[in-house]
Amino acid sequence: MADHVMSCSCAAAPGCMVHRHREPQPEPAVLDSILDHIGNTPLVRLSRIAAAEGLQCELLAKCEYFNAGGSVKDRIARRILEEAEVDGRLTPGATVIEATSGNTGIGLALACAVKGYRCIITLPEKMSQEKVDVLRALGAQIIRTPTEAAWDSPESHISVAKRLHKEIPNSIILGQYDSPYNPIAHYDGTAEEILRSCDGRLDMLVVGAGTGGTLSGIARKIKERCPTCVVVGVDPVGSILAQPESLNQATSGMYYVEGIGYDFIPDTLDRSLVDRWIKITDKPSFTMARRLIRLEGLLCGGSSGGAVWAAVQAARELGPGKRVVTLLPDSVRNYMSRFLNDDWMKARGFLDADDEIREQRERN
Ligand code: PMP
Repeated sequence: MADHVMSCSCAAAPGCMVHRHREPQPEPAVLDSILDHIGNTPLVRLSRIAAAEGLQCELLAKCEYFNAGGSVKDRIARRILEEAEVDGRLTPGATVIEATSGNTGIGLALACAVKGYRCIITLPEKMSQEKVDVLRALGAQIIRTPTEAAWDSPESHISVAKRLHKEIPNSIILGQYDSPYNPIAHYDGTAEEILRSCDGRLDMLVVGAGTGGTLSGIARKIKERCPTCVVVGVDPVGSILAQPESLNQATSGMYYVEGIGYDFIPDTLDRSLVDRWIKITDKPSFTMARRLIRLEGLLCGGSSGGAVWAAVQAARELGPGKRVVTLLPDSVRNYMSRFLNDDWMKARGFLDADDEIREQRERN
């Protein structure tokens, strides 16, 4: 892997000289381990959704669920873990502890399984049983925390992870909420792949934000290479990441879409890179995820539906010859008993008679 320290403009410290950067590498014919199957994900044209929505521009989606652990977070999990190894902060026999909405946990548990570290994941109750089952299968120990706990309360998944770190000798929190290597993994990898696939030309980028690493890392590189590209952030109603603040006032409290939105602004989210925010809600997000599966054969998760729904709204103002890129962070594997299930959808008012008629029409 080509590693070098270079003058960087990463989200952690603009203009700093200290962060190691990596050139993207092609995947070898035979992999040393499945960790080498992270990155180089496909960029797919959403022609059927674009036609159904009457869009004139081209709509492309980076399918991150093809990564080894099934999500975009495999990229940062591998990166923050390997940077800690290089720095000597992570040594054999150590315990890796992380607070996560699930996908970073799966990426870390996968890396820990391959490399032989113990792994403890703190996870809010809201997150799906499917994520818990995958984490367990990968050998992680899981601690569930109350979803309603504020991020800085002692019961939150973040505070519980910090407490365990103090209690467990030779443990480490790799820290997706503040590690510069979270956005750098996307600045070095995901963004380079998108630019390469698009011959350096895109007009709009639409990406959801949780820690904001994906959005900030990709946006920073794309603004450098393609300054006219408009960056759109996607944030659920009930979260406070969007700007201006007035967008965040219509809170509906709890939302079901997993992995995006927070009640604090993570250090890894650089909102100065975002030109515009779009708020999303559960029903259109899940409806779009089901349409992506049915119309495009893309077996994605709920936040993917939210990102594509937002991309469609933003893309309406773009004419022929323009190109919008969005990103599908994870797979329907995480939500088999949730939005994929008609009864689950109906019980929450996300699938009514009109939706069923439209689904029927689109099926035929
Ligand atoms: N979608 C899903 C399903 C996720 O798990 C995450 C990670 N929390 C995101 C989107 C957002 O990614 P990021 O943390 O890089 O903002």
